[in-house]
Order: sequence, then structure tokens, then C-alpha cells
Amino acid sequence: MRFVNADGRSGLLVDDQVFDLHTASGGAISADPTTVIQQQWAEVLAVHAGGALSGGVAVDSVRLGPPVPAPRAVYAVGLNYRAHAAESGMDPPTLPAIFTKFPTSIAGPHDDVVLPTGTSMNDWEAELTIVLADGPRRIDAGNAYDHVLGFTCAQDISERYTQFAAGSQFSMGKSFDTFCPIGPAIVTLDELPDPARLSIRCTVNDDVRQDAFTDDLIFDVPALVAFISSVCTLRAGDLVLTGTPAGVGVARKPAVFLQPGDVITTEIEGLGVMRNAVVAE
Ligand code: ZN
Repeated sequence: MRFVNADGRSGLLVDDQVFDLHTASGGAISADPTTVIQQQWAEVLAVHAGGALSGGVAVDSVRLGPPVPAPRAVYAVGLNYRAHAAESGMDPPTLPAIFTKFPTSIAGPHDDVVLPTGTSMNDWEAELTIVLADGPRRIDAGNAYDHVLGFTCAQDISERYTQFAAGSQFSMGKSFDTFCPIGPAIVTLDELPDPARLSIRCTVNDDVRQDAFTDDLIFDVPALVAFISSVCTLRAGDLVLTGTPAGVGVARKPAVFLQPGDVITTEIEGLGVMRNAVVAE
């Protein structure tokens, strides 16, 4: 199942057609994506399992917004691909290096990424992203997928000066408005051939910057759900950006950063494609 935010309303994406869930359910399912994610996910799965829907519109005719417009928490993981830890000159961490992106940074899959005035070190990071379900504390890794609604794509846009000048506190450099585009859909895991090994790719202006597979993750999805739930109660719609592969701009020699006019494309196997234009503030 592919859940989308189409023109601000809850929708199902089926073969390039979007079906409005409030209409398709005779009003039973909320038009508000946040309400659906937090309270009505089982009802949406039932509508999807019920088969043929009518009244779809072409996905190109709607504006896709962030499929989770208002997550209550956005966890992100630093240095979680072996090759990225190596390019950063860091030893792989012994515990997941979790920081937060504040939820105000969320943007849609086709929204502009706005480079803040006075900055020059803005970087891309394509990331497989977990959309969590409600969950108790201390989930075993073996049951982790029972506490996952699905996956989506994200960009962990990072302003490297603010990220590193504050010592080891990454969160502000990762949290400028528009620095967390997500989408295009929440995809349930049954849609994916192997949720543990997905290709992940980022291009800037059609130049391939990152090209990897998610089985290079140091802490995989079950390990991250187990670790985060050992600290925090999970709430439906919370996001976990699982880390970025090698190929970020700050690690290049010479370093390369985002410029106004660039277009970032983020593609993960089975999850779809995001295209975000880069603009000056
Ligand atoms: Zn990241």
C-alpha cells in the first residue's frame, strides 16, 4: 500500500492514480493525513485490501505534500553506512549516533529546499526513512517490523558550518526550514522485494552523487527500532532517517555544496522518487 498526502488530503496511490480516502471510505476515514497516521491506519489497510476503488485522479494532477506532515519526532542516525563513516574519517560508532531534525524542517517530495541566507556549506544526504507505528518501550529487534507502518524517502539536508561549529550537537545544522523533504509515499513493507536490501541513489542535476544499497547499514532497521525504543516510547508517524551512504559533498575533494538552481533527485528502490529544487532564501 502507498499512502500519500495529495493536496493536503489522505490518499492511496495505485498505478499513478490517487484515490481520496475520505471519499472512498464514505467519510469514515479522515481527510487529514495526520489523523489517519495516528488513529486510522488499520482502516486504511482494510480499504486497500478491499480492492478496486473508483474516482482516481492522475498523480501528476495533484500536489504531493509530505506523507507525514507533522511527525511528533524525527530521529536521524549519523555515520550509519560503513563507506560513509570511512569517507568521514570516523570509526563506526558502537551505539547508533542519533540526533534529531526538528519537525518544523519537514517538506514535501517536490518542494523547494531553501538555502539559508549567509550559508555556503549546504549538503545532500539521501536516506531510507522508517515511519514508526505506536510501540511500547524495549522492542526486541526480532519484532521490530511489527512496529513499523512503512518506509519512505528523505533528504537529510545539512548545513555543515552550523552542524560542526557547535561541537557534537548536529541538530540545528540539520533543522533549517525545508531541510527534511520526505515522500513521495509511505510504502508498506509487503510492497518491497527485500526491505533489508534496497538500492538508494541521489543525483544533483543528473550527476550521480550517492549510489549504494541499504544492506551496508551498520545498524539496520530492526536494530534502530530496538535501540530507539529502549529510550523513547514510539508514536505513530515518528520518523527515523537511517543514515546516508557515501558520496556527500563535504567529504569530496574539493568539497562540493548545493547551489541555487540545483535539482536534487532522491530515489530508493520500491519507494519512488523525490525531486527538490534548491533555491536561495
Ligand atoms: Zn543524515
